Amino acid sequence: MKTIACPTCKQDVQWDMNRLQKLEERWVMVCEKCGDPFFSVIEEEKEMILAGIRLTEEYVPDIIHAYHSEDVKNLPSRVGFGVIKKSNSED
Ligand SMILES: [Zn+2]
Repeated sequence: MKTIACPTCKQDVQWDMNRLQKLEERWVMVCEKCGDPFFSVIEEEKEMILAGIRLTEEYVPDIIHAYHSEDVKNLPSRVGFGVIKKSNSED
């Protein structure tokens, strides 16, 4: 969970997508200090954001784990080329 500064009252507020509230046609995150809706999305955007969060939570830990379980020292850290003396297109 992240903490951000409310654009209205400048106080620290929790950034939590689970705290989105339905306000008419939009989903808003309301500052717990001043009540200002500092974040607002439409239904489709909310679904996209939540889907993105789910994907990140599902797949990124695996990628990080996979990377750490790999012996990265044995992976090539750079790719070298020899000198090209003559290219085939010049024949
Ligand atoms: Zn505020």
